Amino acid sequence: MEKKITQTCPICGGAKLIYYTTCKDSFTSGEEFDLYQCEKCQFLQTTNIPSKDDLGKYYQSDAYISHSNTKKGLINKVYHTVREYMLNRKANLVEEYSNIKNGALLDVGTGIGLFPKKMIEKQWDVEAIETSADARSFAKDNFNITLHDENYWSTLLPESKDVITLWHVLEHIPELNAIWDRFHTILKQKGTLIIAVPNCSSFDAQYYHKDWAAFDVPRHLWHFTPESMKQIAKKHKFQVVKELTMPFDGFYISMISEKNRDSSFSFIKGFWIGLKGWIKSWKRQSESSSIIYILKKID
Ligand SMILES: [Zn+2]
Repeated sequence: MEKKITQTCPICGGAKLIYYTTCKDSFTSGEEFDLYQCEKCQFLQTTNIPSKDDLGKYYQSDAYISHSNTKKGLINKVYHTVREYMLNRKANLVEEYSNIKNGALLDVGTGIGLFPKKMIEKQWDVEAIETSADARSFAKDNFNITLHDENYWSTLLPESKDVITLWHVLEHIPELNAIWDRFHTILKQKGTLIIAVPNCSSFDAQYYHKDWAAFDVPRHLWHFTPESMKQIAKKHKFQVVKELTMPFDGFYISMISEKNRDSSFSFIKGFWIGLKGWIKSWKRQSESSSIIYILKKID
């Protein structure tokens, strides 16, 4: 019999969720978390997530900060080349889809500040919010960029930004509807919202199922598909105008997924599945491991 729980779906307001699968946190705690899907709209979410105060311990900010700056070894060289390519691509997307140069941008969940740094170099007026105090001090010490904590939201003026960006951040934010309301308030008329998230209807998500690394429980609370993204956008008066694939993510996610399975030759196997997913996404974007959604505020 299908296992069901009573819990409100943040997208459609449906009251019943159906059991989907159980995933393990392979990154920090080794704990297991259940994923449930809305009976009405199929939106997938992580359940029994730790409280907001406890969530912090599931993030190893030290590990990713030190990793971010070493350039030794082949893997780090590849990582830095890919990172630089992606930063340029993101910057170009902002200018192409907002049709603005040197506008006002808010980057949410900015990490150590690489993307703000890139946009400041392109003469944009940039503000950025980051919850990790370690990441904020890293940005200050290394790039002399001031990142703001969460309290900064309340100081942002209505209709003050041309573009808001979230690069792999929305899936981490507990108050999902509240953050969409903020996007709508703070963006100017016809402003551009750019959201990159993993895609749980992708080829690699289907293939790895509970071992899919981008479920990343309990850090990822929400698991989006192109359908659910369109739905939540509409609810908050946004329209998805473009979906773009992120070719590198599928390789990376597949390699970690193979590690989650304790596979031998996880690098080669992960590369192969990443390649298959990438080729499939040429024809159908909905097969892509991650998707960049370009949205416009519609009224
Ligand atoms: Zn729903």
